[in-house]
Amino acid sequence: LFLFHVYFKLKNFLKNAEIILSKENSKMLAVSVKGGQKAIEVDRPVGQIVEDCIIKVNRVGICGTDLALFDGYADFDGIVGHEFSGTVVECDQYTWLRRRVTASINMPATIKGDVNWKTAKHDPNRRAIGIRGINGAMAEYICLPEGVLVALPDNVSDAEAAMAEPLAAAMDAVDKLPISDEPILLIGDGKLAQLIARVLIYRDKKVHVIGKSSKKLDLLTAIGAEVKNQVPSNIKYDRIIEATGVPEGLSSALENIRPTGTIVLKSTFNQRVDIEISRLVVNEIKLIGSRCGNVSAAVKLLSDSAIEVNDLISDTFELKDADKAFKRAREDDSLKVQLVC
Ligand SMILES: [Zn+2]
Repeated sequence: LFLFHVYFKLKNFLKNAEIILSKENSKMLAVSVKGGQKAIEVDRPVGQIVEDCIIKVNRVGICGTDLALFDGYADFDGIVGHEFSGTVVECDQYTWLRRRVTASINMPATIKGDVNWKTAKHDPNRRAIGIRGINGAMAEYICLPEGVLVALPDNVSDAEAAMAEPLAAAMDAVDKLPISDEPILLIGDGKLAQLIARVLIYRDKKVHVIGKSSKKLDLLTAIGAEVKNQVPSNIKYDRIIEATGVPEGLSSALENIRPTGTIVLKSTFNQRVDIEISRLVVNEIKLIGSRCGNVSAAVKLLSDSAIEVNDLISDTFELKDADKAFKRAREDDSLKVQLVC
């Protein structure tokens, strides 16, 4: 009994020492717009309100939006990274403590309870993780209010969970298409286009695709999409999703859309785009924007093994090698580049 007593005392002592040490070690590695495309040392986040949870980041993906942020998009200078998975290490609510999580990225300026992803993304005072008003997850730790956390099932890996946010965005683009039996034209072959194609095929849609990279188009053919790089001028589509990231994608969509058709525009161009707007009017074209989706629904699809995402992760780097990861993410033949934190 005495030995047990000593054992528990010692265990408690060590645990407290560990907490004190980890609080004293208040620096961490992170990638911020201000610091450039590399890991630098910054202060570890501390919770400000009772809802705040500290999450130890496990994996974080580099997104086209992150690259655009370094090119001046959205005028943000904080820590980037919104496609992540992590483990809650500090939280007032026991339910979240030690749970693996990802998060819905948009939130109102002040948090009360659970955040509704649909209204949060158009809240004029919103914050968006790693994009607007709140530091992101390309770091060892991130501080987030529990109202945006999404719990991860055991069968979704850290790498897969860090794909939930872009998968949610892909699902949202698909959800914006009107119903029809005809094939859908997907313009683009990058990481987001690959996810969109997988969502479409999972939902039994016929997918035609225009892209540039033969390697990436092969990936699309392998899942059942039909590559249509030379679309004959007499063939037009009633539904097009544009996911190229470049303004030419929209021009191509306008060339291939049928009168009264619908174009879902997924790219956030960093520049103004010159289009012949009267074409939309004369042909009565619907142009629909799409941004951010339901991260919980994406986690469910991953947990159901409905969508495979592991083969879309082309490279993995350590957080300390973030400079190499960003260089790789900017290369044409890469797909999703992830960092292990
Ligand atoms: Zn993203």
